[in-house]
Amino acid sequence: MMKELALKTRKKAIKRIRRKSPEELATTWCQEDLLYSGRGKAIFMILPTRGCSWALSQSGGCTMCSYLSDSLLEDIKAEKLNKIFIDLISQYKIKEKTAVKIFISGSFLNPEEFPEESRKFILEHLNEIDKIEEIIIESRPEYVNKKILIECCNHAPNKILEVSIGLETADDYTRKYKINKGFTKKDFERAIRTIKSLKKDFNIKSKAYILIKPILTSEKEAIQDAINSAVYAEKIGVDRISFCPSTIHKGTVMEELWKKGSYKPPWIWSLIEIINNTRKNLKIPTIMDTSGLGTPRGPYNCKKCNTKLKKMIIESNLTQKIIPTIKCNCYNRWIAEKELGNFTRSTTEIKYQAYG
Ligand code: SF4
Ligand SMILES: [Zn+2]
Repeated sequence: MMKELALKTRKKAIKRIRRKSPEELATTWCQEDLLYSGRGKAIFMILPTRGCSWALSQSGGCTMCSYLSDSLLEDIKAEKLNKIFIDLISQYKIKEKTAVKIFISGSFLNPEEFPEESRKFILEHLNEIDKIEEIIIESRPEYVNKKILIECCNHAPNKILEVSIGLETADDYTRKYKINKGFTKKDFERAIRTIKSLKKDFNIKSKAYILIKPILTSEKEAIQDAINSAVYAEKIGVDRISFCPSTIHKGTVMEELWKKGSYKPPWIWSLIEIINNTRKNLKIPTIMDTSGLGTPRGPYNCKKCNTKLKKMIIESNLTQKIIPTIKCNCYNRWIAEKELGNFTRSTTEIKYQAYG
C-alpha cells in the first residue's frame, strides 16, 4: 500500500534530519507577483512549527512532500513565533501594493500546528500595514470551518484573506493512491462552500494548489490531469489556481522512485501547454510555480531553453497572457515522450505493484 511505503520513507527521513532551531528554519523573501488588483509584490514567509499533522500521523503524509524535514517536530510557544514573525516582517519597508504569504509547512488553521494566539497576533499586525492588500494562508480542508474563518477575517478586516488548499488533482483515485493526500473531492468542495458562504460578509477568497505530475503518471496524463483539475476548481468556485510542478524533495516516495529511474519531473514544455490551455479556457487567474524550474530535481527541458522559458513563464504569471511558441531541439523529444510515455510508463507500474 502507498500509505505503508510513505510511512516507511518518512520514518527514514526523520531519522536523518539535522535538527535546526526555530530561527534557522524561519525565512523570508520578496518577489514580483500578481495580486487580485494587478501586478505588485509578494512577501513570502516560512514560519517554523511542529509540522504538518497529516505528515506526522501514521499516514506517512503526501508522496511528494518533505516539509516535515524542515519542521521542528515539537511545539513552539506563541511568544517565540510572534517574535520570529516580527523579525521577518520588519525587514521590509512596504511601499507598494503587497501580498503576504504565510507558509507554515502545514495548516495555518489547525490550532495544534499553529497557536491560536499567533494566528491572531500575525493577522492583526498585518491588518495595520497600509500597503498590504492580501494575506494568504494555507490549510488542509478539514480545518476550514466558519468559526475559524470568521475569527481570521475579523482579525484582518481591511485585507483580502485567501485560503489556499492543496487539492493537487480533481481525480480522487490519483489523490488517494498516488499522492496519499488523505482527503476527497467532497472534503475540498465542503471547504470551498464554507469560504463562499462568507463572501457576502467578508473579503475572503480561495486558492487551489494543483500538483503537476504526481508519481505513477505519464507526461500526457499529467498534462490532462492538471488541465482537468483547473477546470474543476474553477467550476466549483475557486478564485485562483497555483500550479505546482513536481520537484524531487529529499526523503519522499517521489525521490525513491526517481532514484530508481521510475519517475521524472515534468518537461517545461508540458507546463507551457497547461498554462496556454488554461489561459484560453479559464476565467480565473492561474499561476505556475517556477521555483525548481531548470534544476536537476525540477521540471527540465534542455540547457539551451530552460532559462528562457522560465523567464517567459514568470512574465506570463504576471500578465496572464499566452506564452508564444519558441523553437528548440528538445521539443521533438518532448513530443515523442508525450506520445510514447503511456507505454514506457509500464516499468513504473510494475514497481508500484511490487510495493502494494
Ligand atoms: S503536502 Fe501539505 S498536507 Fe501533504 S504532507 Fe505536505 S504539508 Fe502535509
Ligand atoms: Zn530545449
